[in-house]
Amino acid sequence: MTSRDQALNAPAGVEPCAGQRDGCERCGGLARERFPILRRAVHGLPLVYLDSAATSQKPEQVIAAEARYYREHNANVHRGMHALAAEATDLYEQCRRRVGRFLGVTRPEQVVTLRSATAALNLAAGGLAHRLRPGDEILVTGMEHHANLVPWIALARREGLVLRHLPVTDGGELDLGRLPDLLTDRTRVVALTHVSNVLGTINPVAEIVAAAHRRGALVVVDAAQSVGHLPVNFAALGADLLAFSAHKCYGPMGLGFLVGTPEALAQLEPVEFGGEMIETVTMDAATWAAVPLRFEAGTPHVAATAAFPAALDLVEEYTVERLRTHEISLTGYAWERLSALGGLTLHGPADPAARGGLISFHDPQLHAHDLAQLLDARGVAVRAGHHCAQPLHRRLGVAATARASFGLYNSHDDVDALIEGIRYARSVFGT
Ligand code: PMP
Repeated sequence: MTSRDQALNAPAGVEPCAGQRDGCERCGGLARERFPILRRAVHGLPLVYLDSAATSQKPEQVIAAEARYYREHNANVHRGMHALAAEATDLYEQCRRRVGRFLGVTRPEQVVTLRSATAALNLAAGGLAHRLRPGDEILVTGMEHHANLVPWIALARREGLVLRHLPVTDGGELDLGRLPDLLTDRTRVVALTHVSNVLGTINPVAEIVAAAHRRGALVVVDAAQSVGHLPVNFAALGADLLAFSAHKCYGPMGLGFLVGTPEALAQLEPVEFGGEMIETVTMDAATWAAVPLRFEAGTPHVAATAAFPAALDLVEEYTVERLRTHEISLTGYAWERLSALGGLTLHGPADPAARGGLISFHDPQLHAHDLAQLLDARGVAVRAGHHCAQPLHRRLGVAATARASFGLYNSHDDVDALIEGIRYARSVFGT
């Protein structure tokens, strides 16, 4: 019996998990013991963390690397001639190379170090402004997170552009049949998510890239939900620019990246100015440093760059393929058990192999916020709301959904706890 089974009665008919040990056949939780936060209790119950799509938890090796940076190496980067400054700069540049290798990018200059996926997508949109003319078209999709929608809305408003969107089918997939009409000879940019943070849908990025490139459009991919969870190879996707955050793949907060082809990055104008992003400055003129430093104005989050390689080490130790298999197993199990509860609408494709490790659902009898609060009372952390995808929720016809999302540390027991929690919430509301 797990401590959770002892704290709550194990659900009838479900065999208790033999334990949370690494790779346990029944529960499948991986590397749990390396994530110290998973040992804590919430409201007197063991924490069941099902909110990794918002941010994943951090393994000890990442926490230790960040602390080690402040204990042993702290200095500002790219300036100063002393030993600590050189060490900090090395760590910062090593992270760039490590991210490049992880994503199959050949040149480290193709990796821009920023504070988040949101910052990266704002750089992509803002940086392209000077190349766009009124009437030019941007194509987004109906399943974008606001981070990959609002920067394009703002750009379109400012530059007089036309913003179009590829709709979402009732099955939660992109309506690719509409692509030929929506891609026109005015389309300059196609911006789409790799994995939807609400539907879980894995989009056929390479296919869309090929169609966009035939029209001469540049493709920006939001990989916030895919990097670290499914194999992502920048060259294989064929995209021009790709954005992601470290904190969703077991790395620290405050760190994100824009990865690009040399040609695409060369087209971008900086959107933030100051610090080391310049080559020369006079009282009334400035020239930019080379790519990528021209996009990295101000003091970066060096401690986070010192820590992130440890997260990528963990992913590579297990292999992203194994992590993916694990998430497919959890998602399939959760889909089955949530469906069996009855009365819930589950969003996105039913096939776990066609989706990332998350499931959004709603119960017409129970508001998602109430459900999330009652789950929290049972120690189960899920997210409820519009998940920064209001247009998609409008399309789904609901104001809010609850979302359970998985990481390598999650187990089938965690899914069982979710199911028991939903039963409990329903009993409280008498539904
Ligand atoms: N895109 C997607 C698909 C996301 O899920 C998120 C985070 N919820 C983001 C972009 C933005 O990431 P960040 O908040 O780390 O910038």
